[in-house]
Amino acid sequence: MIEIRGLRKTYGEVEAVRGIDLTVARGEVFALLGPNGAGKTTTVEILEGHRERSAGDVSVLGFDPGRGERAFKARIGIVLQETSVDRYLTVAEAIDLFRSYYPSPLPRAQVIDLVGLADQANTRVGKLSGGQMRRLDMALGLAGDPELLFLDEPTTGFDPAARRNAWEVIRNLAGLGKTIFLTTHYMDEAQYLADRVAIIVGGVIVAEGPPGNLAGRDVARTRVRFELSPDSPGLPPSLRERAEIEGGRVTMQLDDPLPVLHELTGWALSQGVELIGLHVAQPSLEDVYLELTGSAAAEDDAPPAPERRRRRRRR
Ligand code: ATP
Repeated sequence: MIEIRGLRKTYGEVEAVRGIDLTVARGEVFALLGPNGAGKTTTVEILEGHRERSAGDVSVLGFDPGRGERAFKARIGIVLQETSVDRYLTVAEAIDLFRSYYPSPLPRAQVIDLVGLADQANTRVGKLSGGQMRRLDMALGLAGDPELLFLDEPTTGFDPAARRNAWEVIRNLAGLGKTIFLTTHYMDEAQYLADRVAIIVGGVIVAEGPPGNLAGRDVARTRVRFELSPDSPGLPPSLRERAEIEGGRVTMQLDDPLPVLHELTGWALSQGVELIGLHVAQPSLEDVYLELTGSAAAEDDAPPAPERRRRRRRR
């Protein structure tokens, strides 16, 4: 569905995207992750045909999005962070308006059903709550029955229940066989929704793969954490050399945790030492993300994207 080779984008002196390669297959949910200013929006807007690239090959549904062909636009859907739509229209009318832009739209009832706005079908847009408004944004992106849907930070600003609802909507769409390309700052969202993720930092893809497997990279190893009470004996040297110790708190990052855990628990049992709050965990996607982007994110003092700039659709 999407094939990117050697994509570059420069804005004057700024190299926003520096030679990325990506492939997204039909039916996949693909998430592009990265800190503020990493190049996500630039990449997505090139794929949507809203920005020109500086170099590289891009094919979306077999089209070059840079050519802005009507047949291409009819087959993609874009859900922005906010859609400007006449507040005096009802939900049903707004959806019908957007359906009218496309050659073979989804039936209105199906759109309304997919996003869960059946009870608001006759409510005026201006009277919708924030969460309902975001459902309408999703509905408008779906109206044309796109094969490929772009979702830009689909749950930014949602309360926890609304996020879960939005995730279910996205899952429903994936269940219909739609290909979904989303950007997000939320690792749990990517972990829950995406078949594959790519992490972009400074315009370069630094990791790519299924969210579970990314965590298998050696950048983030199994973490062992526990606390020693002040009166417990110190760790033996073979364990101490693997540990970061702060006060009584001990953290170990291990490639091969089993032998170390064996030694640790054997030592604790033989000495009668309690390993308070012993916690052994595989790195989560968030751990991997922070390892890969930590320095880049720390350098960025800017507020998160939604406050700085929201991509809006105007019709
Ligand atoms: P965010 O998470 O903050 O939305 P992003 O990953 O979407 O960030 P981009 O918006 O693609 O990042 O920006 C990448 C880089 O390109 C940044 O350094 C940004 O300042 C710069 N940039 C983006 N758009 C323009 C523009 N129209 N003109 C000049 N520079 C731009």
